[in-house]
Amino acid sequence: MRTADTLEVVEVFRSLQGEGQRTGRVTTFVRLAGCDLACPWCDTDHKMRELVTVSDLVERVGRLGPTGWVCITGGEPGVHDRLPMLVDWLKRSGYKVQVETNGLVIDLALAGLFDLVTVSPKLHLGRKVARLIEEVRQMSNTELKVVVDQHERPWFNLLLDGWRDDSFFDCPIYLQPMSCGPEETRRCVNFVEKMGRESVRLSLQVQKILSIP
Ligand code: SF4
Repeated sequence: MRTADTLEVVEVFRSLQGEGQRTGRVTTFVRLAGCDLACPWCDTDHKMRELVTVSDLVERVGRLGPTGWVCITGGEPGVHDRLPMLVDWLKRSGYKVQVETNGLVIDLALAGLFDLVTVSPKLHLGRKVARLIEEVRQMSNTELKVVVDQHERPWFNLLLDGWRDDSFFDCPIYLQPMSCGPEETRRCVNFVEKMGRESVRLSLQVQKILSIP
């Protein structure tokens, strides 16, 4: 039953974080249902399986075993009104909280709730991406995850080649080959080498390589 403290949940599981700066660290994932986008390549199952109260969700996280971190992912967690309530409960239970978001509905105020905000801009959104990246620059505890496919994306090239302000690169940028494809991986490696910056890094989806959740 939908109440004032329920969330639409796809799954809750414990595994290793496979992407970005927390790669290799034990993490409990809460995958929320729904997304504000419909990317053509999306292979994420973000259809709701159950309604769960915030308190039950936090209890379920605890039952899965010890972990310092909870990663809230989706779909798009930002579409959920109860997201701040969930974060508050998790933090009061002693967890650090990461969110994985496309960034369109996570504003500066909301981003401040999290210990780590992983923003994965969807490059097919064109000019909206530039505005989003400007916002990300103002957030602390943020990493950018850029999925690289086989297509040339003008905004991706702008991001990597043309950004005028060096301080942009204070924020770690993880280039992630789509589906760990060899061509996509080669492109990422080339970009990382070409940039030659400490903050521009390769991120492989370790969970896919290891076939773990
Ligand atoms: S933002 Fe992510 S979850 Fe949403 S449709 Fe795009 S790829 Fe799928």
